Amino acid sequence: MNREEQTIMMLNIFKGDRGLPLSVIDNYNLAIKAIEKQMPKKILKMRGNPLILDCPTCKTSLYNYENDEHCYKCGQAIDWEVEE
Ligand SMILES: [Zn+2]
Repeated sequence: MNREEQTIMMLNIFKGDRGLPLSVIDNYNLAIKAIEKQMPKKILKMRGNPLILDCPTCKTSLYNYENDEHCYKCGQAIDWEVEE
């Protein structure tokens, strides 16, 4: 388990505390989402045009010749290795 995964696990334990106000749980969820976007996710392969692939988080089409480290729309870190 890497450091990001450990932190998400810890935050999930914290937010499971009974009696927490919803606003505090929302803050934990925000932190979890931010950490998840830093963890590279594999790009989604689309049928059809092999140059166009989808962001695994927001499904925006990304062009593989740009090879950006992050989705321009949602900020998800992208792993461009496509599984065949
Ligand atoms: Zn995205």
